[in-house]
Amino acid sequence: MVFVLDRFKRPLMPCSEKRARLLLERGRARVHRLYPFTIRLVDRVVQASDLQPLVLKVDPGSRASGCAVVREETSPEGPVHHALHLAVVHHRGQEVRERMRQRAQHRRRRRSANLRHRPRRFDNRRRPDGWLPPSLHSRVRNILTWARRYMRLAPITRVDIELAKFDTQKLQNPEISGVEYQRGELFGYEVREYLLEKWGRRCAYCGATDVPLEADHIVPKSRGGTDRVSNLTLACSACNRAKGDRTAEEFGHPEVQARAAAPLRDAAAVNATRWAVYHGLRRMGVDVRTWTGGRTKWNRKRFGLPKFHTTDALCVGDVARVTGWNLPVLGIRALGRGRRRRTNLDAHGFPRGFLPRRKSVFGFRTGDMVAAWVPAGKYAGRHVGVVHVRSSGRFDIKNSHGRRVAQGIHWRCCRVVQRFDGYSYGKEDAAPSSPRLKPGASGAAKGR
Ligand SMILES: [Zn+2]
Repeated sequence: MVFVLDRFKRPLMPCSEKRARLLLERGRARVHRLYPFTIRLVDRVVQASDLQPLVLKVDPGSRASGCAVVREETSPEGPVHHALHLAVVHHRGQEVRERMRQRAQHRRRRRSANLRHRPRRFDNRRRPDGWLPPSLHSRVRNILTWARRYMRLAPITRVDIELAKFDTQKLQNPEISGVEYQRGELFGYEVREYLLEKWGRRCAYCGATDVPLEADHIVPKSRGGTDRVSNLTLACSACNRAKGDRTAEEFGHPEVQARAAAPLRDAAAVNATRWAVYHGLRRMGVDVRTWTGGRTKWNRKRFGLPKFHTTDALCVGDVARVTGWNLPVLGIRALGRGRRRRTNLDAHGFPRGFLPRRKSVFGFRTGDMVAAWVPAGKYAGRHVGVVHVRSSGRFDIKNSHGRRVAQGIHWRCCRVVQRFDGYSYGKEDAAPSSPRLKPGASGAAKGR
């Protein structure tokens, strides 16, 4: 689907690609933004339009987060979510971490190598409340940025977000919970997520990982053990069989019994990043509903969907059915905003060359998406991609996978299609295991 804005850039309902093409051909609309594709109607205001509330669904992940813009429809079976737009936001937590490590090393070298002694200054610094490590902070900002951008592009009234892996409260008092819990199936998924987290995704008896794990009753039911989570652990099928109807203590593992009695701390169950996202969304003034990963997984299994970031996002929350899960997915990769470094360093840490202070060269910035028309030479023809500027005015152009498609293109041949906004865009491959947008695209971020 295509996002649609009115003449004052306020969001309208998204329309189909075919309709967008017709509107553009008839001159009733202008292209507002290429990624995600958005048109602006020149003759319409939002008051004259029929809006249905949309929901943004987010599944925050450590490397990438899935986003889905859906239209919610109420039906007898429950809420049905029709996907209108799917995207995956790739975070750069690893890269941020690596850069911070490099910076710390360079500072250490400077402190010790060629300066006189200087008293340490670490102790007079304090971290503000809610401080997150920069790598996590960048993830939070990525999600909040895209929530805000989608709210500008579509009439989103609610955000459904997966906040926790499982619901601690409902695990304690399953009888007070909703009808799905009493049916027992969803409860099973919550319990499983809880156990995986608590027992570190390994067999409690032999420590085996990467094997199918079964829920094991520490005191067997035949010996009066209960189904409560405090009586459950994870075991590989071999250990489970070997244990038979003995208790864990009789099986030679009293420590399992002791560990089971201690409940998993809330802090471990719900991580700080997700709470930061939640509070950030609340500050935007949007209705935020939080759900658990156990429910996401239950929904996904129930609908028989493959595991992608986007299907997980679609399955967040209270939903009876989803449509459009296999729409094309927009890949969004966070690139950062360049470096503050004034020089490069060689392998031995010595400065090498100078980096220019200004980012803009003849009105172009590294990361801008450009269309270039080259009249002659090796790269004759038309190229569209991300520009990498040089002070000489001869630019490189890279495609969305970070591969260089043209080199040394004169700035007069280039025209900006979309200004750099901190992200690069491309089509997301379907299979989650196959390589997605190559990190090479981050070359654009190293901008001057
Ligand atoms: Zn085992």
